[in-house]
Amino acid sequence: MSTFTAAQEQEVVAGVPRGLLVGGEWRDADGGGTLAVEDPSTGGVLCEVADATAGDAMACLDAAVAAQEAWAATAPRERGEILRAAYERVVARAGELALLMTLEMGKPLAESRAEVLYAADFLRWFSEEAVRIEGRWATAPNGGMRMLTMRQPVGPCLLITPWNFPLAMGTRKIGPAVAAGCTMVVKPAKQTPLSMLALAQILQECGLPAGVLNVFTASSASKTTGPLIEDPRLRKLSFTGSTEVGRQLIAQASKNVLRVSMELGGNAPFLVFEDADLDAAVQGAMIAKMRNIGEACTAANRFHVHASIADAFAEKLAARMGGLQLGRGVEDGVAVGPLIDETQREKVRELVDDAIAKGARCLIGGSERIPGVPGHFFPPTVLSGVPADATLLREEIFGPVAPIATFETEDEAVAAANRTEYGLVAYLYTRDLDRAIRVTERLETGMVGINQGLVSNAAAPFGGVKQSGFGREGGTEGIDEYLSTKYAAIRVG
Ligand code: NAP
Repeated sequence: MSTFTAAQEQEVVAGVPRGLLVGGEWRDADGGGTLAVEDPSTGGVLCEVADATAGDAMACLDAAVAAQEAWAATAPRERGEILRAAYERVVARAGELALLMTLEMGKPLAESRAEVLYAADFLRWFSEEAVRIEGRWATAPNGGMRMLTMRQPVGPCLLITPWNFPLAMGTRKIGPAVAAGCTMVVKPAKQTPLSMLALAQILQECGLPAGVLNVFTASSASKTTGPLIEDPRLRKLSFTGSTEVGRQLIAQASKNVLRVSMELGGNAPFLVFEDADLDAAVQGAMIAKMRNIGEACTAANRFHVHASIADAFAEKLAARMGGLQLGRGVEDGVAVGPLIDETQREKVRELVDDAIAKGARCLIGGSERIPGVPGHFFPPTVLSGVPADATLLREEIFGPVAPIATFETEDEAVAAANRTEYGLVAYLYTRDLDRAIRVTERLETGMVGINQGLVSNAAAPFGGVKQSGFGREGGTEGIDEYLSTKYAAIRVG
């Protein structure tokens, strides 16, 4: 049974602006084109939003450029207060924003609510950081001059976000950009534009001046963002999405020597040592694997478990994952929603079939379609005895599938964890503090969860190494991505 009626679902969708936000005005796309937003749990169309042309996207950049100088000159406290007000409004409207997110993305309501609050936290955190942008004053070592170091907004930014966290991936960029005094053009993923459009409206209501935040939705990401990335007036590109698209954008951005931040794909190893608290490890695994239906860059992609406890771990994990209810995210008790689309479902199916064909044992789930269920559902799946050549140990799964492989020694565990081109996050479970620190130092990732299945926090620097990208979002580091350092040499007579 659903907590919401069909009328309530329609009402929450109807309340969202469908147009492009350009220079403080909501308007249609040039030529009136629209693009359909689908409910992945039914395949039905929720609504149509504006389908921007390249000209519309350029109008967004024009507005951001026009607003930049005045926005950079506003008092930091003023920028902080707008973010704080937006934080409060997002929290106050968390229920309806969560429903909207579930409808367009599919995740269960409780998870959408958690994302809304997580997203809001970036607005609060950066409202606090806005007033802490500091510089330095020093005497040159030879005493000949004074050196003043200041930090200034980098300028108009293009922010491109993915569908898996439709709100939080936006506020992680918009929060620091607003705090730093940058204007911006935001392009949300075409599959989940509604959460971002609702956020833009909230920021407007909270007094964000016209032109500071411009938003366009489009069916063609490359045609609309390409000309902006090549425009010398754009000063920064921040992207969250796949490594494949990130690589293309880095190449494009090189023409203008554009500053870039890249939050890309992951392939998180989850290590369980023989001395771990097994129940705590299973609990952590449930969070690291099943948050967002496994469609998270931080999702535990592969479990490397000490051979002496691997069977016990697999059995307990299978029991927990097998007990999760599948269904429309709006329904009570549902813990696993649909995958975002059929392409994603097919990719997960291929990875699971490949692992089984190479010798993995399927403890629960599997790739068979659930009879009579529409939508892109994939059941929670646990695979044990996964051989080293299974593709899913190397590729990002992005679904509710937990492959378990074994190791004998700490060196083997670390080598297996690092055997990937990605380096976003790793998880490790052990009761031995020396080992926890030793292994953490050897892991080639930007983040490590130690006896902890969730690392995301607005106050922490989120980001990766290797092909998971560069730059950090959140923490005291997050605002640095939107600031340039200027130094003035001063002769004192
Ligand atoms: P994606 O296909 O790379 O798309 C991400 C965004 O880029 C969307 O807005 C998309 O627009 C746009 N885009 C696609 N092709 C583009 C192009 N040629 N030029 C400019 N923009 C383009 O990724 P996704 O499938 O939405 O998201 C899943 C990926 O994001 C996973 O790999 C996941 O690990 C990663 N991710 C990383 C982090 C992190 O912090 N490291 C966080 C969340 C997700 P359209 O919607 O129009 O295609």
